Amino acid sequence: MSKVRHVLGISGGKDSAALAIYMKKNYPELDIEYYTSDTGKELQETYDLISNLETFLGKKITVLKAVNDSSEDNPFDHFIKLFKGYLPSSNARWCTKKLKLDPFENFVGDDPVISYVGIRGDEDREGYISKKSNIQSIFPFRKSIWSEDVISKVLSNKNISFTSKILLSQPKNDKTERILELINTEISTSFSQSQKLNSLLDLGIKEFNSIVFEFLKSTEYPLSTEELFPLINNEDILVRDDIFKLLEDSGVGVPAYYKEVEFEINGEKSSYARSRSGCFFCFYQQKIEWIWLYEQHPDLFYKALEYEKDGYTWMQDESLEDIIKPERIAKIKEDHLKRTNKKALNKKSPYLLDLLDDAEGEGCASCFI
Ligand code: SF4
Repeated sequence: MSKVRHVLGISGGKDSAALAIYMKKNYPELDIEYYTSDTGKELQETYDLISNLETFLGKKITVLKAVNDSSEDNPFDHFIKLFKGYLPSSNARWCTKKLKLDPFENFVGDDPVISYVGIRGDEDREGYISKKSNIQSIFPFRKSIWSEDVISKVLSNKNISFTSKILLSQPKNDKTERILELINTEISTSFSQSQKLNSLLDLGIKEFNSIVFEFLKSTEYPLSTEELFPLINNEDILVRDDIFKLLEDSGVGVPAYYKEVEFEINGEKSSYARSRSGCFFCFYQQKIEWIWLYEQHPDLFYKALEYEKDGYTWMQDESLEDIIKPERIAKIKEDHLKRTNKKALNKKSPYLLDLLDDAEGEGCASCFI
């Protein structure tokens, strides 16, 4: 019987939804608790996705609320009032902490927890994740399922002899000698930690995972108490196309805000969409996404505009009132058209999402994955 809790956060984005589908299909033996942190300011499409997922999973997704007892009817408005209208920004991202991370940490308390995170195999980032010591993040879509802190411990020069002992205590195969050689090679200016990691993973993902799993037994990480962990045999690496396929094949579907909407500017056709989940007014969105919001969900755009007062604006360089002036909208659309044409040529990709995805690495695991 597992001594740890297994949890998976659903942000409303495609990657966490695909991860939930993937885990149910591939690891039905894990009793995963699904949760979502509702800011009260998500798009309807996000709530629709969550409801479709519940049907697929056959389980309730627990809705975490940052405040339960407030005169405001949603958590975001509670905090914006508390902070006297001070809007969050990439430099002062109080929203992620108050509305996503804190409720998650309260939800898990002090229990040892494995938290599954949907960062994909084609992304190079760790995300903004909880660093509480009782929460261990696992990344099933990546070649390395382990978090950076675990990797730097396992591969640290001072642990070389311990790690080689672990390897030698495990069943040997034709790769053992080469793995041992790599483990014994110190990290240096000419051999970085990531080179060492990638070389080990290239030699054998399962072999490397077995070493890490054994190594963890000497630590306080939640997995240290587990006798078995099925993901050590996971050799899958999932990239964007796999995510869309999982969503479509499962019947859950791709979140509707990704759907491209055509527009015409100066006689030329282009299209826009929203590139990610999260609050409808999220300050991470690009200007063209603000125009998408204005034209596709004007009611939400004006709600976002109402928050801009006392000198606070969602964007650093212009207000929402300015961005919807006709000449400004035209300029943003022209720029978008130029950018997408240029990038499509470079990337040889006809898909708008590939282009909008350039900004995907910004933000946080809690809101967008
Ligand atoms: S989606 Fe954006 S505005 Fe909403 S909590 Fe996340 S970072 Fe903040």
